[in-house]
Amino acid sequence: MGFNGEVEEFGNKIKCPYCQNEYENSWEFEELRNDDDTTEYECDECGKNFNISLSVSYEYTTKGLCKENKTEHKWDYFSHTREDNGERCFGRKCLVCGEYEFNVEKPDGEELKK
Ligand SMILES: [Zn+2]
Ligand SMILES: [Zn+2]
Repeated sequence: MGFNGEVEEFGNKIKCPYCQNEYENSWEFEELRNDDDTTEYECDECGKNFNISLSVSYEYTTKGLCKENKTEHKWDYFSHTREDNGERCFGRKCLVCGEYEFNVEKPDGEELKK
């Protein structure tokens, strides 16, 4: 499944805006060490000048660990119809740790969410 708590990476390469040449060795740019550092660079590939600026961003994702803490999952039941094949899909997701279980019917008296 793998859609829980993943941290994405983006823009981690220097790319020439003219020829799209990518520079793998970003750490070789000594002027770029701290957040908002900028430098000008002449592209090795097409010879045009461009500006590089560094932005450092940290992204944290946290989620509970129900199993490790030996706490009850807090289930949120869902049910919807898939658009591609019209199949009914239902199950539950833990609001604390993000675990999914499919094909689990909601117990009586629980509010069903779309
Ligand atoms: Zn270039
Ligand atoms: Zn849980």
